[in-house]
Amino acid sequence: MLFETVSSYYGKLEGISSRLEMIDVLTQMFHEVKASEVRKLIYMTQGVLAPPFEGVEIGIAEKLVSESIARASGYEKEQVYATYKKTGDMGLAAEQTIAKTKLRRMSSRKFSLIEVFDMLHKIATTSGPGSQDGKIRMMSELLAASSPVEARYITRFAMGTLRLGLGDATILEALSKTSTGERKMKSYLENAYNLCSDLGEVGEALFEGGIGAIEHFKVTLFKPIRPALAERLPTAEEILEKMRGRCSVESKYDGFRVQVHVDKKSKRVEIFSRRLEKVTHMFPEIVKAALEELDFKSAIFDGEAIAYNDVTGEYYQFQETIQRKRKHGIEEKSAQLPLHVFAFDLMYSDGEDYMTKPYKERRRKLEDIVAKNGIVRLSDEIIATRPRELEKYFENAVSNGLEGIVAKDMESFYVAGARKFSWIKMKRSYKGELSDTVDLVIIGYYLGRGQRAEFKFGGLLCASYNDKTDMFESVTRIGTGFSEKQMVELQKLLDKAKTKTKPARVASIVVPDFWVDPKYVVETRADEITRSPMHLCGMEKLDDGSEAGYALRFPRLISDGVRTDKSAEEATTTKEIIEMFGMQKKIRVADA
Ligand code: ATP
Repeated sequence: MLFETVSSYYGKLEGISSRLEMIDVLTQMFHEVKASEVRKLIYMTQGVLAPPFEGVEIGIAEKLVSESIARASGYEKEQVYATYKKTGDMGLAAEQTIAKTKLRRMSSRKFSLIEVFDMLHKIATTSGPGSQDGKIRMMSELLAASSPVEARYITRFAMGTLRLGLGDATILEALSKTSTGERKMKSYLENAYNLCSDLGEVGEALFEGGIGAIEHFKVTLFKPIRPALAERLPTAEEILEKMRGRCSVESKYDGFRVQVHVDKKSKRVEIFSRRLEKVTHMFPEIVKAALEELDFKSAIFDGEAIAYNDVTGEYYQFQETIQRKRKHGIEEKSAQLPLHVFAFDLMYSDGEDYMTKPYKERRRKLEDIVAKNGIVRLSDEIIATRPRELEKYFENAVSNGLEGIVAKDMESFYVAGARKFSWIKMKRSYKGELSDTVDLVIIGYYLGRGQRAEFKFGGLLCASYNDKTDMFESVTRIGTGFSEKQMVELQKLLDKAKTKTKPARVASIVVPDFWVDPKYVVETRADEITRSPMHLCGMEKLDDGSEAGYALRFPRLISDGVRTDKSAEEATTTKEIIEMFGMQKKIRVADA
């Protein structure tokens, strides 16, 4: 496939404001690509060079790119920069500069998608002395032989600002349509994606082996599984009812979720975060313990890493655990904050897939594998059959400084990548507030008014994620509770992510001063959820014929800045907001 063809599809995608149209254009594009090319086409369309868990960073510096455009066109760097300042987009600056190039084209050869991808990969991964010059040379050669439109997308991709506004679910739906003409194969493809977290791999398997290969997709060591997630219920009675009268109940540790992959033969360990980033370097003691303490040849298990003092029995908060994220000082931090992993699930062991076995079997195997008093230990567990047992366990967990409990359906499979009632969380609540925090996606921001005018930033427009439609639906404005530092930082961050028009996957009738690419998640707390005609989260027709969605009342940020452990698609879903609204009503009735 020629890169020229890819560019023309990207051009079409950019102008589209409806998700269904996006799926159609993607489907046409996939119809033109060969099986040997589809993996790279998918990565490129996602704006990445490899599946995100590989951590291959694109994002070549502005200076380097402008220098390359200058060299490729015969203009001065300053002239390129002036066009960039005028357009606000280096991609457009490249396009316009290449269109009026002063240099004669050396050849009329056209680049293939694979050539462009491989060259950009080389540019991004070249390092060491003299690498800057090498990068500029390669990038300028690429741009000099490109058409203006190709230069637009090469530049944006290289800078990490391709932003076609496509979610994983949209790409999966287009792949489904490409293979069968319908969207209904999506659930099989989703399942394969949940097992490997690599859209390129799923696309390649589909193109090479058809839907049969997708149906028989297997979990593999060192490819992260998309994590199982918990639903919420407010009372022990409801949890037990949902679990058919009997369930496993565990402490909910407020630490850092880790998915550990271990192969003792090759002495390889990889640790993935909840967002499936490789975080192995952060946890040297877990790597060591995984190889030395546990009784298996190879395994994949889930756990929560948390600093815990064996002597005092004290757990440290998430914030303290996260301090270790700083790359430096990891060794000192290991000594100061003794870290443990509380293992709570097993997905794979010694060549056997445990995900399709019931939880009671996975837990039994985990008990065989995990030593009693090591760095890796088992999560606490009781089997509850009566509400009072569950409540007592919950109260005890909270008084020990834990977040609450997670109840588990003992008969259920491991449900990768989904929030299902096979896990139900119950957290401690505070009077006059929603019992849980809500993770929202920033879809727009406002400028400061009055006293705030000195900071350009004045507030956020936020959305929940509707996982059925793959859209971000507005749910609240946050206008208060920001520190000066937060305002400055948010302004800086959002200024780079702002878009001229409403992004295709955003649903909102409230119009902010600036729309923002839906990619940043903030953790918020609110007093309650109300019905609102202003917000499109869960918008539906009511009995009286009017329409209403859901909105948060008195929302405020509770994290320092954006949550780096969650992607936009991992934010609180519209379905969860509606469930929380229902729970809040029940609690009120119970309180009255
Ligand atoms: P939260 O902010 O409540 O952790 P979340 O969206 O990150 O929400 P949920 O699926 O709602 O995650 O809750 C499950 C999370 O709780 C897991 O991701 C994990 O990090 C943490 N956790 C702590 N202890 C356990 C446990 N025993 N079993 C399962 N998950 C646990």
